[in-house]
Amino acid sequence: MDLDQITEPLDRRLSDGLTRLAAVARQIDWQAAEAASLSPTQADILRFVANRPQGARLTDAAAHAGIRKATASDAVTALERKALVHKYADAADGRAVALKATPKGKRVAQAWPSSFAPIVAGLSLAEQEMLFGLVVKMIRQLQQRQLIAPQRTCVTCRHFRENVAPGTGMPHFCAFVRAPMAGRHLRVDCAEHESAA
Ligand code: SF4
Repeated sequence: MDLDQITEPLDRRLSDGLTRLAAVARQIDWQAAEAASLSPTQADILRFVANRPQGARLTDAAAHAGIRKATASDAVTALERKALVHKYADAADGRAVALKATPKGKRVAQAWPSSFAPIVAGLSLAEQEMLFGLVVKMIRQLQQRQLIAPQRTCVTCRHFRENVAPGTGMPHFCAFVRAPMAGRHLRVDCAEHESAA
């Protein structure tokens, strides 16, 4: 029997496996949202805003959550009612709505469980590093193809100097903190990120 002939394509099985892992993570997020009396969308927006203490635009929050602006606006109205975020006019564009988390909103976001923690917990440190490198690569490719909202990752940051010391244990460099970096140090949601575009 030739298993290459009868086995489903690798990308299909990989996709199935990732879908199952994502379902576990989503369930953990939903349970946390329920415990905090939030809908999944409200929880997603709250955490996005709380991670941006300088403020976040409503349109960016909607793009992050993958929803329409009107839907995001409804979620923000509910978050305001719960005293978790507040709205204000963006200083750079008076017509744009910006959002900040209240102290209560920050506390809720900080207490949020890491939804993928139980999934990666069974991997060794070396395996986690290898997987992290692949995740960064996939995020970068999605961003280049504009299939994901802009992410605050090192690989899209103007402070990132990629592979400036090839063949060493710390091949990259962050010009913001002026420090060499290994692949394991890359960030996927850095508050100091500035887009290289
Ligand atoms: S500022 Fe943040 S995102 Fe930019 S290179 Fe440094 S660590 Fe990475």
